Amino acid sequence: MKINTTTGLLNDCRQCPSPNKDSRPENVTIDLIVVHSISLPPGQYGSNKIEHFFQNKLNKNDHPYFAEIHEMQVSSHVLIKRSGEIVQFVPFHERAWHAGQSNYNGRDRCNDFSIGIELEGTDTGPFEDEQYKQLSHLISVLKDAYPTISDNLTGHSDISPGRKKDPGTGFDWNRLNNQP
Ligand SMILES: [Zn+2]
Repeated sequence: MKINTTTGLLNDCRQCPSPNKDSRPENVTIDLIVVHSISLPPGQYGSNKIEHFFQNKLNKNDHPYFAEIHEMQVSSHVLIKRSGEIVQFVPFHERAWHAGQSNYNGRDRCNDFSIGIELEGTDTGPFEDEQYKQLSHLISVLKDAYPTISDNLTGHSDISPGRKKDPGTGFDWNRLNNQP
């Protein structure tokens, strides 16, 4: 796994470009990783509905929940599916729309300075071995490419408390930190 720091893209990973992005503010330093979880429909795995959602292609007639969310314009930089497959939506040097209203150590608008990683999962369920492996590997590659990240790793629920619950109670931070 490698990052081309000119294009902001991972090599050998599926690219699904999202229109839900823009430029980061000038002179911003990328220094935070935010971990999320998502599944569409909620609790169901293995479809390509998350990719459709982040590409504004979700069909509102496919599921009652899709009718609620299909007009939301959101994205993340990458998604790690249950199989461990990584899909990229937004180049890392651009701003993905993943965190919304948020605050990290006194700094608002975390999208400005963070990289958003979605895990296919729910707020309450466990995650797969392959997801921990790939997430750990991806984090180390991101830290190499953007050393200012250092150890700044957080969950969406920590930067948007009361509003967000992901990655959820089934996500084991110790397990992530103890990956070989
Ligand atoms: Zn989230």
